[in-house]
Amino acid sequence: MRTGHLSHAYLIVGPPKAGKGTLAVRLAQALNCTGETPPCEECKNCRRIVSGKHADVITISLLNAVSEEGSSRKEIGIDSIKRLQNDAYLPPFEGKRKVFIIDGAEYLSQPAANCLLKTLEEPPPGVTILLVASREEQLLPTIVSRCQRIELLPVPSATLQIALEEGYSVGTEQARLLSILSRGCPGWALAAIADSDFLEAHYRQVSDLIALEEAGIEQRFAAAAKLTANFSQQREKVDELLVLWLNWWHDVLLVSMGVRDFISHINLENVLEERARLYTMEEINKFLSRLRETRQYLEWNVNPRLVMEVLMLELPSPRIPAKSKGG
Ligand SMILES: [Zn+2]
Repeated sequence: MRTGHLSHAYLIVGPPKAGKGTLAVRLAQALNCTGETPPCEECKNCRRIVSGKHADVITISLLNAVSEEGSSRKEIGIDSIKRLQNDAYLPPFEGKRKVFIIDGAEYLSQPAANCLLKTLEEPPPGVTILLVASREEQLLPTIVSRCQRIELLPVPSATLQIALEEGYSVGTEQARLLSILSRGCPGWALAAIADSDFLEAHYRQVSDLIALEEAGIEQRFAAAAKLTANFSQQREKVDELLVLWLNWWHDVLLVSMGVRDFISHINLENVLEERARLYTMEEINKFLSRLRETRQYLEWNVNPRLVMEVLMLELPSPRIPAKSKGG
């Protein structure tokens, strides 16, 4: 922006909660800002954009998308993109530049993606298109090649810790925990600050996982069925859960190897130690590979119920029977 060399289309990629959506909104603000240091966050344009009320900054996401007729998949259909195209040829109404944010570009249906391609090839002047995606590999290569790519990497935990302490008045210990547990995704840490249930839900998912390790096959299959019921609507949630399982088991592996400096669940070290003692390193490694494969299979649209049931069969059971819970 400072040098006046802006691309007409950007693709912002990175893990969930890395700040992709925030960056897109800030960029839209900066392009329309009337203050001295864009984005000033104070001028009328900046304020209207952040509240989603600005007529020239239009976000298309799964929340407001129209699916293809007859499709049961959660997707952004061609009608949403056609509307964008009609709109793109109108001059800005209240700001300086029209900005279209497609949040969740990996959810564009095939016809929608092809339709968008035309706009990306010959964009109307005065228009900026921002594509936001967590799963870049799901995008058409032709779309990726027509955008300038911005990848958001995880923030180093020391940097994030300072930002949480100074910018959000979080205590040192809590800031340290969140900066590590979030694995450098600021949005994760901020969600945990804003909502105390967020962290609790995380710990609940960890203890549910431990309970599954102790459970018999019936309970495990019931869990697989529950996770994959209505899968197209909760695909994202299942993937987030698998990432949580990966992170937890990765911690178990680190403790099992005696490398504690790099674990993320720093406040659950005792539990990790207990769990690490129950499995051989081979079992832990094998299950980590299975988890990675499972995410891949789900991405390839293999039958989710089947995939999760196989994973449940692969989930190792503790060598030593768990301590009796008493009573
Ligand atoms: Zn401003």
